[in-house]
Amino acid sequence: MKIIVIGGGAAGFFTAINIAEKHPDYQVTILEKSNKLLQKVKVSGGGRCNVTNERNTPSELVQFYPRGQKKLHPLFKTFSTQDMANWLYNRGVETTAEEDHRVFPISNSSQTVIDCFLKLAESNNIQILKNHALVKLELSDSHWVVHTTQEAMNADKVVIATGSSPATWKILKETRLEMTAVVPSLFTFNIKDERIADLQGISFERAQVKIVSTKLVEEGPLLITHWGLSGPAILKLSSWGAYELEEKKYHFEILVNYLKVASDQSRQQFQEYRNLHPKRKVFNYPLFSLPRRFWERMVEYCGISDQIPFGELSKKQVNKLLEELTQGRYQVIGKSTFKEEFVTAGGIKLSEVSLKTFEAKRFPGLYLAGEVLDIDALTGGFNFQACWSAGWVISESV
Ligand SMILES: Cc1cc2nc3c(=O)[nH]c(=O)nc-3n(C[C@H](O)[C@H](O)[C@H](O)COP(=O)(O)OP(=O)(O)OC[C@H]3O[C@@H](n4cnc5c(N)ncnc54)[C@H](O)[C@@H]3O)c2cc1C
Repeated sequence: MKIIVIGGGAAGFFTAINIAEKHPDYQVTILEKSNKLLQKVKVSGGGRCNVTNERNTPSELVQFYPRGQKKLHPLFKTFSTQDMANWLYNRGVETTAEEDHRVFPISNSSQTVIDCFLKLAESNNIQILKNHALVKLELSDSHWVVHTTQEAMNADKVVIATGSSPATWKILKETRLEMTAVVPSLFTFNIKDERIADLQGISFERAQVKIVSTKLVEEGPLLITHWGLSGPAILKLSSWGAYELEEKKYHFEILVNYLKVASDQSRQQFQEYRNLHPKRKVFNYPLFSLPRRFWERMVEYCGISDQIPFGELSKKQVNKLLEELTQGRYQVIGKSTFKEEFVTAGGIKLSEVSLKTFEAKRFPGLYLAGEVLDIDALTGGFNFQACWSAGWVISESV
């Protein structure tokens, strides 16, 4: 049996290795259009490779996939995040989970994962052909003809793992595979506003951010950057709102609650503090554990002089300050990438594949895995996990 895997990235390598391990008699070839392998694995997780996540139950996992969601339940039931950690461990790569459940190799280097994959490809006699770009895919009688920039090759089965390449999606559309619109996901919000200008690096443990006139609202750590706002709360919004925000051309309004408490509780806590310390100067005593520089900026912005004590604040000043802290209104004027990390929302429709085998329903012998499909997730190792699980399922099915 001759199997051609197209794409020398995460999904391509993982699928090829598992097929070759299970079927030593199969001839497995990886075709890669560039002269580099596993490029995204190399830069992933800031060079540390957030290889998977500690969360392991399928019902919990699927909640991290805005595109995919419940449909991915059987996938993670078959090959879970724990299965991936075990897979790596059994092949010499130990991993460790961080407090926020993200899993990394203990070496803290993506090269460990790359070395493992390359070694396994070699020991399992996988042929790797670089500079071989797929240009056309044809079904001829009972076999596939893979036309590349170098040569045409025959295969009994083909796995497409070409990631988010617009040129390759075009080729796949010509093969009559249907796809959704594709838009960016996992981006940060550009905001030019005196309230946060020059405060880059200041972070908030748990903030809530709402996008005005939508149902989009998320909670989590929030970070002020040179360009605006970032951090998990923003990245989650960018992922769940990928299509809605693209429609708005990345111009919209947000409401930010910087506090861990709701606005009525914040009023009560503020009042209690005020009653206890009426003589303390507002400027000098940040409340709600807010970073000092941010508190000072907000106090100034609300027109409260640095000499005014809590006891002498007018009702209007208190209202203004609490409103800024719990319902600050900001205009988003664009997007930026987060540490160069991004994924593409959209791809080949999931209705095109059987979610038990990842084989194309209308094209037996053709399989798809990874970002080429309409699956994407929040940050945390979930995007790779979708590649690993699909690769495993395909290796069982071929
Ligand atoms: C900077 C960055 C950091 C990231 N960090 C993480 C992280 O820590 N954890 C996580 O879970 N996710 C992370 N992601 C997302 C993750 O990298 C992707 O979801 C994942 O790499 C997708 O794997 P893939 O194999 O589907 O696609 P890719 O890794 O993009 O591989 C596709 C391969 O196919 C090749 N190809 C394309 N077209 C053709 C063709 N016509 N013929 C032959 N070959 C072709 C491409 O050259 C490429 O090598 C990160 C993404 C970025 C950009």
